[in-house]
Amino acid sequence: MGLCFATNNPHKLAEVAKLLPANIRLLGLQEIGCFEDIPETADDLTGNAIQKAMFVWERFQINCFADDTGLEVHALNGAPGVFSARYAGPEKDNEANCAKLLQELSKHEDRKAQFRTVVCLILKGRQYLFEGVIKGKILLSARGNHGFGYDPLFQPEQSNQSFAEMSVHDKNQCSHRSRAINKLVDFLITD
Ligand code: IMP
Repeated sequence: MGLCFATNNPHKLAEVAKLLPANIRLLGLQEIGCFEDIPETADDLTGNAIQKAMFVWERFQINCFADDTGLEVHALNGAPGVFSARYAGPEKDNEANCAKLLQELSKHEDRKAQFRTVVCLILKGRQYLFEGVIKGKILLSARGNHGFGYDPLFQPEQSNQSFAEMSVHDKNQCSHRSRAINKLVDFLITD
């Protein structure tokens, strides 16, 4: 079965490709002929995941899923959360976002944080939601060169490596996105 992942982020595609069983063919947006910027203007992660998946379904009638992720920092009352991509401004600059996070947290001892992903699957026009969470902490400075976004600043519980120090395989053992996608896979293989 073909399933489109509504993302233009090659890192997300690479992570998710390793989690799907062989009988599911992962399709990128370009493969289905979608070259538009998909809006994400909802006020929470669930709304954005639904918005992105519905965008593809309504135009292409192809089974598809989308994810939306937020970094929720305890001392910042859950910020940046749904605003994670645009934390430092509309340019969605990863380095600027990380710099702003370090600056905001410099006044706090508590560095607890979690990543939360919501995945929306649209299968034959019906909508299903899956969530994945990983708890951890924000490091004092960036570590590692893999991954993307806030990966160099986030160290999951029970690990001494940041996500950016891990291979895709190791990040997939515990990440927010892999937890949500594993639920999606369980659903698909038992459906
Ligand atoms: P979105 O889900 O693509 O909208 O991501 C929102 C923000 O969180 C962006 O700044 C991403 O770079 C960041 N982000 C999403 N997933 C991850 C991840 O797995 N690791 C680090 N940052 C992430």
